[in-house]
Amino acid sequence: MNPSSTSIAWPPQYKVKKHRLARHVKLKAVSANSLEITIPCRFNQREIPAILEEHKSWIIRQLSRLPPLSQTQEMPDAIHFNAINEFWNVYYMECDARLKIIQRPNREIVLVGKVGDQNLCREKLIQWVKNKSRAFLESQLHAISTKTSLPYKSVAIRDQQTVWGSCTAAKSISLNYKLMFLPQHLAHYVIIHELCHTRHLNHSQDFWNLVAVHDPDWRKHRYELRHANQYMPAWIQSE
Ligand SMILES: [Zn+2]
Repeated sequence: MNPSSTSIAWPPQYKVKKHRLARHVKLKAVSANSLEITIPCRFNQREIPAILEEHKSWIIRQLSRLPPLSQTQEMPDAIHFNAINEFWNVYYMECDARLKIIQRPNREIVLVGKVGDQNLCREKLIQWVKNKSRAFLESQLHAISTKTSLPYKSVAIRDQQTVWGSCTAAKSISLNYKLMFLPQHLAHYVIIHELCHTRHLNHSQDFWNLVAVHDPDWRKHRYELRHANQYMPAWIQSE
């Protein structure tokens, strides 16, 4: 196959990583449509376009060897937790150590280690999201339960594909960690919905009447929830 026959978008998309120990600019093709550029800390990023031009034929040759990276695999530069209206910037720093996440002030997290391993990065990020989610959802559930006088026995934060929440006869509630990505009123609706199941373990009229007491707009919220996938970031969706 002649590589030059493959169409490569120019200039390619690229992600810049500052590396404390880097002495030179390093170019690495990560897929047919993206490049990773490692630069020394003091390097002026405005010089990057010129560097790309200078190495254009080499870069195109490298890119054309790789399959395109789908949107779902792309790692995020930022994470938006809709439910708590928090926006976190995500940075990646390559080094020869076990991958870990460092949380910094001003809502920044840095993945440090072998950041070229996307699956591992994803796994770590999801773990971090789950921990944040657990703290928020547990306190919300507790607060709403107290306010509505609908007690529950225990709570578990789960990683579920198709359900936002569930409730057992023993009043054990499960909530999906992905609720963090929904607007607050929808996360609120799901919690009320599950708490009402502690009284009615079905979707009878009595159940909906109780939901309506605590969330008068429940019909609208229930409808919106069916379209909630739009709030889910692409990198987490493919799980
Ligand atoms: Zn239900």
